[in-house]
Amino acid sequence: MLSVIVPCFNEEAGLVECHRQLSGVLVAMETPYEIVYVNDGSQDRTYALLKELHAQDSHAVVVQLSRNFGHQLAVSAGLETVIGDATVIIDADLQDPPQLIPQMYRLWQEGAHVVYGMRTDREGESSFKLWSARVFYRVINRLSDVQIPLDTGDFRLIDRKVVDVMLQMPERHRLLRAMCSWVGFRQVPLAYKRAARFAGETKYPLSKMLNLGMDGIVSFSTVPLRLVVLVGFGTAMFALLGIVYAFCVRLLTSHWVAGWSTLFIGMLFLSGVQMISLGVIGEYLGRVYTEVKQRPLFVIAHVLRAGSPSAMLEHSFVGRAEGRDRA
Ligand code: UDP
Ligand code: MG
Repeated sequence: MLSVIVPCFNEEAGLVECHRQLSGVLVAMETPYEIVYVNDGSQDRTYALLKELHAQDSHAVVVQLSRNFGHQLAVSAGLETVIGDATVIIDADLQDPPQLIPQMYRLWQEGAHVVYGMRTDREGESSFKLWSARVFYRVINRLSDVQIPLDTGDFRLIDRKVVDVMLQMPERHRLLRAMCSWVGFRQVPLAYKRAARFAGETKYPLSKMLNLGMDGIVSFSTVPLRLVVLVGFGTAMFALLGIVYAFCVRLLTSHWVAGWSTLFIGMLFLSGVQMISLGVIGEYLGRVYTEVKQRPLFVIAHVLRAGSPSAMLEHSFVGRAEGRDRA
C-alpha cells in the first residue's frame, strides 16, 4: 500500500486540482493507495473541501488538527496516521509534480528506503527565496552533524522502516528532511524541476524560514556552543596582548597608554560578544525547556477515514503511541 501525505494550510484555491492530479497518478499506478490530507488549522474553506473529497473518494483520509501547528508538525501528524508500506510527502500547492511518484515508487521497489526529490530548477520563486534556500543548506551542512543533501525539500518517498524510526524521534523542533537523513538506510536522489505554485501564496514568510533554519542548525549541532567558547578564548588572548603591551609601554617609554577610545570600543565589543554568547546558550536552553515539558507535538481533533469510526481528540507524543492500531 502506498500512502501520500498532503499538509494543507489555507489551500482552498488549489486543493481540488491537487486531489485530481494526485488521484490520476495513483490510480494509473494500480497499487492500493490512500491520500492523507492533514488540515493544519486552516481558516478558509479547506476543511469543507476536504470533507467533500472524503465523501466522494474513499481513498481520501482527512486528519483534522485542533489548530495550526506548522508544516513540519502537520506532516508528522500525517506520518502517524499513514498505514502504507511506503509514504510520499508532497505539498498541496503542486510545486512538486505528482507525476514523479511512479518513478519514486519504482526506485523504492528496487531497494531504496528513501527517495528524495532534488530540485534542479525552481520556477516562480523570488531570487531572495532561492538565495536564502541555498545559504540555508550550506550553513546547516557546515554546522550540523547530519548532512542534508543540497536543494531538497520534504518531497520524498519514505519506506515504512524509516517512518517508524522517525516516529520514535520525539523532538518538537523538527526539520523532517534532516531527521530523515539522520535515519540512514539507502537514500537516493531523484532530480526534478520545481514548478511555480499552482494557486494561493507561500505560507513560508521570512520569519518561518528563519525558524526552520534555526531548528536545522540548533537541533542537529552543538557547534555554535563551541564557537562561543572559541570566541571567548580569542577575546581573552586579545586582552592578554593588551596587558603585555601596556606593561611594555609603561616600563620602556615615558608615556602612558593613551586611549579612552580603545577602552570604550573594547568594552562595547566584549559586551556584544557576551550578549551573543548568552543568546546562543539561551537558544539551547529554551529548547531544553520546551523538550522537557514533554507536551504532545500536535493534537488531532479527528480523523475521517472510510470504514473506521473517527477517533475523537487524539494527541500524540511521537513514538509514544505504541499499540495504536493501524488497521
Ligand atoms: N503548510 C502547513 N502549515 C503551515 C504552513 C504550510 O501545513 O503552517 C503546508 C502548505 O499548505 C503547503 C506546504 O505546507 O502544502 C508547504 O507550504 P508552502 O507551499 O507555503 O511553502 P513553500 O513551498 O513556499 O516553501
Ligand atoms: Mg510551496
